[in-house]
Amino acid sequence: MPPRPDTLVGPDGALPLPWLAPALGAATGQRGHALLIVAAPGDGALALLRTLAQGWLCEGPVVDGRPCGQCAACRLVQAGAHPDLKQLLPGAQALAHGLASEEEVTNGGKRKPSKWILIDDVRDTLAWVATTRSRERGKVIVLHPAEALQGPSANALLKALEEPPAGVRWLLSCSDPERLLPTVRSRCQRLVMPSPDTPTAEAWLKGQGVAEPAALLAACAGRPLDALALQVDGVDARAWAALPAALARGQVAAWAGWPLTRTLDALQKLCHDLLAQAAGAPPRYFPASALPAARGGVAPLLAWAAELNRVVRQAEHPWNESLLVEALVGRGRDALATLKS
Ligand SMILES: [Zn+2]
Repeated sequence: MPPRPDTLVGPDGALPLPWLAPALGAATGQRGHALLIVAAPGDGALALLRTLAQGWLCEGPVVDGRPCGQCAACRLVQAGAHPDLKQLLPGAQALAHGLASEEEVTNGGKRKPSKWILIDDVRDTLAWVATTRSRERGKVIVLHPAEALQGPSANALLKALEEPPAGVRWLLSCSDPERLLPTVRSRCQRLVMPSPDTPTAEAWLKGQGVAEPAALLAACAGRPLDALALQVDGVDARAWAALPAALARGQVAAWAGWPLTRTLDALQKLCHDLLAQAAGAPPRYFPASALPAARGGVAPLLAWAAELNRVVRQAEHPWNESLLVEALVGRGRDALATLKS
């Protein structure tokens, strides 16, 4: 798997993402025992949580919430070996971020990596909170994202969030606080992580080797980490811009090898832009030059949009993915053909 961007402050003291500084500074003034970071998906909430945790555990000089990157505690965090840091993520995300091995998240191949934070992991964490000895700075639990807590897991956490032992601090992230249990929400102080401005996001993507950052940022609604993930998976600006023509030809191969969620996301964005174009509005995700100059009745496109929405809502359904994508691309092609005629 290609390397992901860092999510900690390394020995050189550089922030893992350049736009974390304002949120780190703002969090420094928070004295509560549970902090909920609200961040747009793809803006790097995990990097903020991990850097904040590193700053709280750092035993060297911490300036504006920024850990030193060099002390013994920072080295332990960087090595994934700090005894006072616990990270609670769904197995699939822990694996994707390199924070757990395949063996760990599949329990030796016995299950699929989970999309949810498992109640057993919550219970392990609560036991760890109660028993493990700490170094100097207390203990920190990073929980990302809080939306991945289902009812029983969230309920198990409530008491720990309300009355944590002295020296224990929780760091949670979410993109939509309304999706959390009100009882979880109310126990946390809240801090909104500002999104990077476009020049900052583009400069960072360029530094990561993305040749045409503006196009990929548009493809990902301005979310820089999603844009980088596209590029890392081999979808560059040119491949993205080729999708409308592939749809018009019903060329399913353009989506071959994509995870289903990304294919559905791309088809929904394409449908959105075709509808915008048909209504005489500017497209949002694709370059206008890549879209067919379609005009006319939009009923077939609206029907396609409804079908895509239905499939997205049933993401847990055990689809035959290749048949599903073929059918959806076929419907999109037909809708487009009707529109042009
Ligand atoms: Zn340090």
